[in-house]
Amino acid sequence: GSNVETLEFQAETRQLLRLVIHSIYSNKDIFLRELISNASDALDKLRLESLTDSGLTGIDTSDLHISLEIDADARTLTVRDNGIGMTRDDLVDLIGTIAKSGTAALLEKIKESKDAATAESLIGQFGVGFYSAFMVADKVTLRTRRAGTDSGTQWESDGEGTYAVQTVDGLPVGTSVTLHLKPADSEDGLADYLSESKIRQIVKRYSDFIRWPIRMAAEHTGTEGETARETDTLNSMKALWARPRTEVTEDEYNEFYQQISHDWLPPAETVHMRAEGTFEYEALLFVPSQAPFDLFSRDTKPGVQLYVKRVFIMDDCEALMPNYLRFVKGVVDAHDLSLNVSREILQHDRQIRGVRRRLVKKVLGALKDMQSKDAERYAKVWAQFGRALKEGLVEDTDNTETLLQLVSAASTHDPDKTTTLREYVERMKDGQDTIYYLTGESRATVENSPHMEAFAAKGYEVLILTDPIDEVWVDQVPAFDGHRLQSIAKGQVDLDESADGEKESDAEKARREQDFAALLPWLTSTLSEQVKQVRLSSRLTTSAACIVGDAHDVTPTLEKMYRAMGQ
Ligand code: ADP
Ligand code: MG
Repeated sequence: GSNVETLEFQAETRQLLRLVIHSIYSNKDIFLRELISNASDALDKLRLESLTDSGLTGIDTSDLHISLEIDADARTLTVRDNGIGMTRDDLVDLIGTIAKSGTAALLEKIKESKDAATAESLIGQFGVGFYSAFMVADKVTLRTRRAGTDSGTQWESDGEGTYAVQTVDGLPVGTSVTLHLKPADSEDGLADYLSESKIRQIVKRYSDFIRWPIRMAAEHTGTEGETARETDTLNSMKALWARPRTEVTEDEYNEFYQQISHDWLPPAETVHMRAEGTFEYEALLFVPSQAPFDLFSRDTKPGVQLYVKRVFIMDDCEALMPNYLRFVKGVVDAHDLSLNVSREILQHDRQIRGVRRRLVKKVLGALKDMQSKDAERYAKVWAQFGRALKEGLVEDTDNTETLLQLVSAASTHDPDKTTTLREYVERMKDGQDTIYYLTGESRATVENSPHMEAFAAKGYEVLILTDPIDEVWVDQVPAFDGHRLQSIAKGQVDLDESADGEKESDAEKARREQDFAALLPWLTSTLSEQVKQVRLSSRLTTSAACIVGDAHDVTPTLEKMYRAMGQ
């Protein structure tokens, strides 16, 4: 019509569009996430305004929803909402220009970036939002009418240099975005977005927890073979994490956990929290009942998903959970992040690090609670994940104290029960101030070790540590509750100094040393290939000799482990 106005994109917008069209994003499917997210925001705004702005009180907000329409003949996909809509001025301001500060500087950096991955991560800081439509469409037609106004506007562009706007009468309130799709091209990452099942799959993956219904008309085949078109709601809308804890049932938590984890058992523990303040987020985390078979394989991924305001951003978000807690499943929904935030950015974001610290404390705290309140359940969790948690003693020095409290270990005290370090300390003999342990391949090897003899004879409790990782953490942990951890197979362990009454007199010791004065140097030189030194010991009772490591030596088990890892 005569009211068509052709406008030029702002220079920065043009540059950004060029980047988008020339595929900075390897994952093109996300265009739908962006459009649905905008539609969802528009529905939020309309509802809010209808509640607060007297001018809009007449608007019917009883059926706010998003609908997706596929037109195979026209090769279009339309995302429609009955939300707030935009005025003509809004359109030019919001869609035609990039008001965000720092755009020019960012574009400069992108141009200078050496590779696609860097460019992608830079653009992620910014977020392409609506423009992502041009990744999959060679023309986009947007029709919109602002709630409370009489006429609507159409905006159309091929994403090159200009766009056209015109006034259109008779539009419903809300916005429709019609994508004239590029042909599917698997090499370019362009799926067939006319395919109903593809659309369903993308919605399920990226927008399942959007709290407005996302509907699509679909062909259904009845029992007689007749077909009918019916409207389906594609998303579950269950943003469980955003609901107050008191309003969620255990069944709902379990169902949600099973949906995200594909586990068939209920979780062993649920942690649900909300953080308010400068960086708001909700987190719903689960400790599974059973470890996955690949928990210790090299590239097991962490299990926390990141959402931004109900919009799915990524799986396996390593920035939110340390490696040793990779078995924790769940969702973190952060309110103040860009939808296009990348893994690299997350890794370096100070606030995300803060979130992670807090989540780790929450998970470890929940485990500690379980340990004191439900020892039986805790024992099962420890049996499944204890080995991973012990990696935390090596990786996460911030939480050494809590992790040490969580440790359960076999011990000579009771062959049928594990002990905590706290319980060990409570049983320590008068005058004993170190925690004794021995590492080895199995309980039997450790129990039958000659090193055990003197300790058994004198009634000292020894922890029996048989995980390869035990060799590592016991060396790194300074002490538990002021008590050093000491291997009974390393360095000098002089039991006589701590046990009372049995101390060998100086004269006796001197005589014993005299007796062996010739033998020891001879043994040392004869065995020089195998051992560093042969010396007298008070640690044996029935065996004639044993091999002792230097205080700082790598133990045989650890040596094996290093070799297995190819180091
Ligand atoms: P962002 O969502 O991060 O603001 P976008 O590029 O996705 O950036 O969208 C730009 C703006 O255009 C939005 O902030 C909103 O004001 C407007 N907008 C986009 N889509 C819609 C819609 N469906 N309804 C109303 N306004 C919209
Ligand atoms: Mg957006």
